[in-house]
Amino acid sequence: MHAVDRTLSIGERATDLMRAYSHCASPRAYELWYTYVTGLKPALNDAVKSLLGLQDKLGAAEIDRIYEEHLSEGRVALQALRAGSELVLEMDEVMSQIDAAAGSTAQFGASLEALSGSLAGPLEGGRLRGVIESLVEATREVADSNRSLEARLKDSRGEIDSLRKLLDDVRQESLTDALTGLFNRKHFEVTLTASVAAARADGSALTLVVIDIDEFKRFNDLYGHLTGDQVLRLVGAAMREHVDPTCTLARFGGEEFGMVLPGIGRDHAYGCAEKIRLNVMARELLKRATGESLGRITVSLGIAVLSPGETATSFLDRADRAMYRAKRSGRNRTVVDEDPAIPEAA
Ligand code: GH3
Ligand code: MG
Ligand code: MG
Repeated sequence: MHAVDRTLSIGERATDLMRAYSHCASPRAYELWYTYVTGLKPALNDAVKSLLGLQDKLGAAEIDRIYEEHLSEGRVALQALRAGSELVLEMDEVMSQIDAAAGSTAQFGASLEALSGSLAGPLEGGRLRGVIESLVEATREVADSNRSLEARLKDSRGEIDSLRKLLDDVRQESLTDALTGLFNRKHFEVTLTASVAAARADGSALTLVVIDIDEFKRFNDLYGHLTGDQVLRLVGAAMREHVDPTCTLARFGGEEFGMVLPGIGRDHAYGCAEKIRLNVMARELLKRATGESLGRITVSLGIAVLSPGETATSFLDRADRAMYRAKRSGRNRTVVDEDPAIPEAA
């Protein structure tokens, strides 16, 4: 099916679902149903299905909620905010329990003091018994309160651990490109700047590789954006296969990828880049549904080796220019930005 036809058919199906299962028709509702039809966000589909298990149609408020949770740009920030405020509530509870326990310990001290006062005079049998009973009672109260504090702290520990895990996940998500699972532009830039500073400080090697898919617009036009997205995932997988875990891999633009390779020199970086290029080129793309062959795709790569005293911006610019040189000289190749000041070591 042609890309335009495919998009239109998703749109029509989304409109049908919106009519059948929503109380309102809004751009948000349309986006929700469109995403539902593509199946790209399984969690959104689950949320919709579970609501429709309970009621016939989605109202505007429910559409808003699902949209905020699964589609809105502010979603990750919202989740972090929620986890953060749950953590604060949990801590408040624990603090008030500790205050209560501290209160009963202070009370215990006061009881002991009062008792020691009453021990000052001569003690006949009845009075001694009374003193001991009060002592036992006060001790039991403190022991009870300590026990409930201990149980509460144990519960809280579990809750705080799971909230911390949620915050970690949210943080990880905010650094990740959802489509490929590689890092996103934000994390790429932070890592690049930090790696340049570290390499300048200790004089270690640093290389940067920029990768761009060849003629990708044509591929999208021919086979549709969703199939194009599969190609982006494939390039991400090829990158993962051929570099060390210490390297940072990112998709930093639509169809542009970057790799920061610390401690790796020119020749090693060139070897990795070529392996990725050949790996991508070797895969024959097949359409999942029909098995139809979509041919092969290729990538162009540019490499820069950090020059002494160079900034991250100039470093990235040189790798980018090397990649464009690869495009101009016919695509499907790797070009190294040669700096005459750098010796030819690996
Ligand atoms: P070149 O070989 O010169 O790089 O040609 P090109 O067509 O790859 O480059 P151009 O910059 O003209 O087009 C990039 C295309 O990448 C445009 C758009 O269709 C596609 N693209 C960008 N982001 C995405 C995405 O997230 N998903 C999909 N499927 N395509 C994307
Ligand atoms: Mg591009
Ligand atoms: Mg391109």
